[in-house]
Amino acid sequence: MPLRNPITDLPTHEVTNVPPLLGDQDLYAKDRVLQEGLKREGAGWAEEIVAGFGRKAGTEEVMEWANQANRYAPELKAFDRNGRRINQVTFHPAYHNLMDLAISNDLPTFAWNNPKPGNHVAHGALSYLLNQVEGGVLCPMAMSYAVLPALKATPSIANEWIPRLLAREYDARDIPAAEKKSITMGMFMTEKQGGSDVRANSTRARPEGDATGPGAPYILSGHKFFCSAPMSDAFLSLAYTESGLSCFLLPRWKPDGNRNGLYIQRLKDKLGNKSNASSEMELVETWGLMLGEEGRGVRTIIDMVQGTRYYCAIGSAALMRQALVQALHHTSHRSAFQRKLIQQPLMRNVLSDLAIESEAATTLFLRLGRAIGEGESDEGAASLARLGTAIGKYWICKRAPGHVYEAMECHGGPGYIEESILPRLYRETPVNSIWEGSGNVICLDVLRALQKDPAALPVFFAEIELARGGHSALDALIDSLKSEMKAPGDFETRARRITEMMALAWQGALLVQHAPNAVSDAFCAARINGPWSGAYGSLPGDTDFAAILERAGAEM
Ligand SMILES: Cc1cc2nc3c(=O)[nH]c(=O)nc-3n(C[C@H](O)[C@H](O)[C@H](O)COP(=O)(O)OP(=O)(O)OC[C@H]3O[C@@H](n4cnc5c(N)ncnc54)[C@H](O)[C@@H]3O)c2cc1C
Repeated sequence: MPLRNPITDLPTHEVTNVPPLLGDQDLYAKDRVLQEGLKREGAGWAEEIVAGFGRKAGTEEVMEWANQANRYAPELKAFDRNGRRINQVTFHPAYHNLMDLAISNDLPTFAWNNPKPGNHVAHGALSYLLNQVEGGVLCPMAMSYAVLPALKATPSIANEWIPRLLAREYDARDIPAAEKKSITMGMFMTEKQGGSDVRANSTRARPEGDATGPGAPYILSGHKFFCSAPMSDAFLSLAYTESGLSCFLLPRWKPDGNRNGLYIQRLKDKLGNKSNASSEMELVETWGLMLGEEGRGVRTIIDMVQGTRYYCAIGSAALMRQALVQALHHTSHRSAFQRKLIQQPLMRNVLSDLAIESEAATTLFLRLGRAIGEGESDEGAASLARLGTAIGKYWICKRAPGHVYEAMECHGGPGYIEESILPRLYRETPVNSIWEGSGNVICLDVLRALQKDPAALPVFFAEIELARGGHSALDALIDSLKSEMKAPGDFETRARRITEMMALAWQGALLVQHAPNAVSDAFCAARINGPWSGAYGSLPGDTDFAAILERAGAEM
């Protein structure tokens, strides 16, 4: 019989046993853990906003923007056609769509525009939703959110720059900040000879005129080796004056209407995070304003780093959630050996293990968001937020690459193919662990938080003791952690061990209190009680897999 259509009616092209396309995802409505956590941590008032954004961010259209923004990576446009140095970056239109979506939905500034309890929780939830689709734009969002407390160090700078940040109309134009509808900000700390160790910075600053100190103009010269989102309108940077390492605000344009001396040398060719430009920059006679006290630059910029570290934890939780959603969808529709994959006992174990990891991560970042908000007026909460940000950043980011890889493997071969989006999610995962303080540095920061703030450890133990009696393995871990903290010997060598125990105890405590027994029992049994390789799919045989999978949103 003649073929009707030579393209679609090929006899070998009957397509069976493959999942339907996922299509538009309602990222909030399908996420029970997020819904419960948002309300529990005091942001129920923002539910409609978060739910509405979850519907928008999860559409196929936005997913395609993310795909394109990553496929067509930004390019450096160092010069204009007449040879003038302009230091611009050209982005695919899809990137601008994503930036517009983020800024018009208040992603960088929701917490600051809504100063009430739960604001950082709702803020975190919004970021978590977009991060499931695209991580690159979250970098400028994170920095624009996190810079605000640091700007307050010098009121004259805060008064000028904060209102610009709080605006919600995306404006991509490369013009002076004062003329723009809204702005974004970045941060340059890392130099070639030292990133974690910023005291190794070699960039110098000298007063421009007679005035010195906070708010005074300075001229900087030196370089920065990692400058992400270099198209931002201003940056916080560190440089040495005669009094030590100090913090400066460097605008893209100088007050005299000329471009500032921010020379982009090249864009980095990165593993992932492709939509986001990351650059190397020479600072040549760069004009800036001193922010905070002279010689106290690290103290000033650390307020910003706390916020970006919160974003790293959120970002990795988001990547895990989206990887889980994709794996659940695929395995619900694909059969092998006469059964849907999701019905195969061993696959149920793997998927359930991925689900409890994702729930533990989401629950922890939402709790952290509440501590950050309450910490603005409560010292105990501030101690928990300070310590907890380091714990959450370390552990959630550390768990994400293996998690996303395992979700990829649930797809078999198609998971390795770009169109599945798993490769992009996977490539995105390591960066959250590396930037804003790599793993060891973050664990050392846990020790620093404990050492500098005597209230931090008691506050942390009070937090996890709330779950005492909920699961014997958790009780035993809390006791071991107490012994570990009193044990003699070098704390620095044990910093990862201590941080990991704290993270597991905190996640376990939150799940025991707030998650269904199926989830908390599986978490405590697999992660806390007995040998654990860290891989996925080794939950005990008596786990209530059906309950866990149903909660995670599986179609069974
Ligand atoms: C994609 C990307 C974008 C970035 N964007 C920015 C940006 O916009 N602005 C910016 O300022 N930076 C940025 N960074 C830089 C990033 O923050 C640094 O790379 C990171 O802080 C580590 O610094 P480093 O590369 O100098 O590594 P190093 O400081 O040399 O550290 C190397 C390793 O040694 C470990 N280590 C360091 N000290 C100790 C110690 N005392 N004990 C044990 N181990 C230790 C670290 O944990 C790390 O694993 C970006 C990085 C990446 C990958």
